[in-house]
Amino acid sequence: MSKSLQAIRGMNDILPEQTPLWRYFEGTVARLLDNYGYKQIRMPIVEFTELFKRSIGEVTDIVEKEMYTFEDRNGDSLTLRPEGTAACVRAVLEHGITGGGQVQKLWYIGPMFRHERPQKGRYRQFHQIGLEVFNLDGPDIDAELITMTWRLWGELGIRDAVKLELNSLGTSESRGRYREALVEYLSAHHDKLDEDSQRRLKTNPLRVLDTKNADTQAVLVDAPKMADYLDDESRVHFEGLKARLDAVGIPYVLNPKLVRGLDYYSKTVFEWVTDKLGAQGTVCAGGRYDGLVEQMGGKPTTGVGFAMGIERLVLMLETLEQIPEEISRQVDVYLCAFGEEAELAGLALAERVRDQLPNLRLQVNAGAGSFKSQFKKADKSGALYALILGDDEMAQQVVGFKPLRGQGEQQSIAWDALAAHLATCVVQG
Ligand code: ATP
Ligand code: MG
Repeated sequence: MSKSLQAIRGMNDILPEQTPLWRYFEGTVARLLDNYGYKQIRMPIVEFTELFKRSIGEVTDIVEKEMYTFEDRNGDSLTLRPEGTAACVRAVLEHGITGGGQVQKLWYIGPMFRHERPQKGRYRQFHQIGLEVFNLDGPDIDAELITMTWRLWGELGIRDAVKLELNSLGTSESRGRYREALVEYLSAHHDKLDEDSQRRLKTNPLRVLDTKNADTQAVLVDAPKMADYLDDESRVHFEGLKARLDAVGIPYVLNPKLVRGLDYYSKTVFEWVTDKLGAQGTVCAGGRYDGLVEQMGGKPTTGVGFAMGIERLVLMLETLEQIPEEISRQVDVYLCAFGEEAELAGLALAERVRDQLPNLRLQVNAGAGSFKSQFKKADKSGALYALILGDDEMAQQVVGFKPLRGQGEQQSIAWDALAAHLATCVVQG
């Protein structure tokens, strides 16, 4: 194929053999979110560039080097969303649905775009399920978010492979005091820092904490600790969160270097990490952002949220072989009809059955074909049963009912009785 007809690097097709697993994952999360009382919101994929600059922060990796930004025909600068929180905050403000302290528990799903170096678990178009809660400021809701993800890992069968890392960044005041102390300490060791950290020291010093550079990490061993600068309010909040996680029995590790890449976090930050995916080990990350709404022009409104990367979680299900068997079977019953008259009768019969069993996955053979070829297709479809309509069946107004997975002999079922019969032998989702 000519080069111009390839997908963009880092932007992947999700092929039909992969979509059952995606839908299983997405369906499981959606059901859980419904059950906990979260409502879905859908935002546009493109926003004004300014939105992301103002919310995510000018000196973050995303805004500095990862955004897909372009000018549209009006000359407006637009950006493909790199994450969901900014647009979600914009939407709740625009529609006034968090005004007067109204609580909103929202979730979204969809593609995000970041110009990163593509590798396993890191793509340029990737998908997130994210969640944002507004106007609940206690540790109880932070705990609910984490508890819900803990339940999700349990349902997916990957709980043993993920670890919760926690930190508190304090209020912006205490973080400011900490930042000063950190800058003072790091400046005294300036020459030992890697180049990137030297730059971050000037622009976004907290981010030096999550450096991967060994020399800088050595310098950080004796650096001031955020925990020593936490204000009382944040300390009480953090204790409240930990007490709740202990009550549910969710293990966690405190990671004082966890700062998250985005500017807007305060108090609680957390990440679920795994060692099963190589370098791209964070599968879900989030935290509290009590100042963001105000920073974006709204009234003071607290917020907390997280986002999980669908590609990484699907990869985990594959790696850990936690793929439920039933999701790969897409067909319950396959109808074969031989001859034009039987095809017409088969079509009408199939529709009658579908009226009565709307959840039945019934596939009607298309493209005619010999007995042998239709039967082969029925078998390959994965169906549990084949329905057969030939001359004999037409004459008697019955349908041949043949188990394909070795449970019993073929039998004849009257057309009128077919739906009732299927209802007894196919478990419908
Ligand atoms: P990382 O440190 O891996 O770059 P991040 O802190 O930039 O992650 P967030 O902005 O917190 O990521 O996004 C939440 C989640 O979305 C991540 O934990 C990850 O699972 C997923 N994610 C982020 N960037 C990508 C990407 N380029 N490709 C695939 N998944 C991603
Ligand atoms: Mg990143």
